[in-house]
Amino acid sequence: MGYGDQLMGSGLARGAAARGKRIALGDGRRILWDEHSKEIFRGNPNLAPPGSERDPDIEWVPFYKGHRIYNKRLGPRWKWNFAFHAVPGELFFDTAELAAGRRYGTTGFVVIEPQSAQWKSVAANKDWGVRNFQGVADRLKAAGFRIVQFRGDRSAVALQGVEQFATRSFRDALAVLAHAALYIGGEGGLHHGAAAVRIPAVVLFGGFIPPSVTGYATHTNLTGAAEACGSLNPCPHCRRAMLSISVDDVFNAAIGHLSEQQRKYG
Ligand SMILES: [Zn+2]
Repeated sequence: MGYGDQLMGSGLARGAAARGKRIALGDGRRILWDEHSKEIFRGNPNLAPPGSERDPDIEWVPFYKGHRIYNKRLGPRWKWNFAFHAVPGELFFDTAELAAGRRYGTTGFVVIEPQSAQWKSVAANKDWGVRNFQGVADRLKAAGFRIVQFRGDRSAVALQGVEQFATRSFRDALAVLAHAALYIGGEGGLHHGAAAVRIPAVVLFGGFIPPSVTGYATHTNLTGAAEACGSLNPCPHCRRAMLSISVDDVFNAAIGHLSEQQRKYG
């Protein structure tokens, strides 16, 4: 699974240390972290790492690979748990990471991510289309905003006329994102990241996954008026949902967030 699950895990653990506790994400016997957990949980006092199963201060939360609480596999689709609402995650950056996060500037830029995780089977259902993202980037640029994109190992598409920020890791990208004015992109790791570093966002949900489950109230979450189907196969309903979200919709939502920030911070 991806980084989004780790960020939601850090949200579930929020506030534990202040109560004298640490959260054990696992099945009650073993703490089950995955390949991305260490990177996201580093420095987080609310989470107990594998090996601390018998420590007196732990509280179990059954959130782990294969048991994510917010969904259940039902044949070829996910059944969403509408009682689950993602809580913004948390990252605990050290001094060097905070300094590195400031290297591209600390005000006003807009991060845009034109592709969701292409290696996942649901990619087609979460894809708004690179051409649409290019349209939004062009219009925001014409309106005077600095538009940027993160370059990592797995980012295949570079939008035209958009600054490319090299990043060393997902965690490093979030340290930079913490200084953005806005994030625009699909439902995925970076929208969870934007919530964790308290950045507004315009998120292209479409018809696959419901914003009430993995979305955040501080973001504009666009579904194209579709009910979430959870289909793990390319789905015409999801395609229609994405097609009914226009470049105008995203541009207007972006301008709404950006002008609110300008009113707040000048
Ligand atoms: Zn669908």
